[in-house]
Amino acid sequence: MFEISFIPAFKDNYIWLLTEGRRAFVVDPGDAAPVLARLEADGLVLEGILITHHHADHQGGVAELTARYQPQVFAPAKESITGCTHPLYGGERIEVLGQSVAVMAVPGHTLGHLAYAAPGALFCGDTLFGAGCGRLFEGTPEQMSASLDSIAAMPDETRVYCAHEYTEMNLRFALAVEPENAALQQRVSRVGALRAAGLPSVPSTLAEEKATNPFLRCTDPVVVAAGLEHAAVDASKTAVFAAIRGWRNVF
Ligand code: ZN
Ligand code: FE
Repeated sequence: MFEISFIPAFKDNYIWLLTEGRRAFVVDPGDAAPVLARLEADGLVLEGILITHHHADHQGGVAELTARYQPQVFAPAKESITGCTHPLYGGERIEVLGQSVAVMAVPGHTLGHLAYAAPGALFCGDTLFGAGCGRLFEGTPEQMSASLDSIAAMPDETRVYCAHEYTEMNLRFALAVEPENAALQQRVSRVGALRAAGLPSVPSTLAEEKATNPFLRCTDPVVVAAGLEHAAVDASKTAVFAAIRGWRNVF
């Protein structure tokens, strides 16, 4: 299995760097400059790029990286991605640095959004965040809720490599939804300490998200009650998800 580290970009993006010896892949290079600097500093050769969705902060660096190296570019077939060489729909398996990786369709934030599942590690872009989930720019609550269900079905120990450092902000909202959740309270202090020390809160584990992320807890009685207080049309998982997501947008 390849090694995973991060390249910080913009204000709060993480570009994940996958390496096997001197061979490298990156996930969602929104900016080429920090990637080129890291590749050069570490003497790496970029063999591939994984793109989760079309937003500029996830694909903005592809053209420049492609001009310098000749990487394979795996990306959503349904979205407009610069330099895509391997269009994907979800359901495929691809090879990343000798490792078989499953491609998942996770529509919601955008309609073609993909997640990449390696053994024990999920690269999920702007679908699932630490203690939160992406905004529904293109998809419906039904689509996003189903996408989160497919992620939640993965093994508990899966590490969640999302694309943004949003955890602290998301935890404030999660606490408003579930003030009495002890696992959530513990996560708030753990993440507070990490961030105060300048360390990332990502990756988390799926077990941690299931215990503290309100968007994965839409059948929990406390979350259902909060959803109903925020205009959920009924107590179904999707209606509760839609209401909690709507509340988050104005929080
Ligand atoms: Zn996005
Ligand atoms: Fe983003």
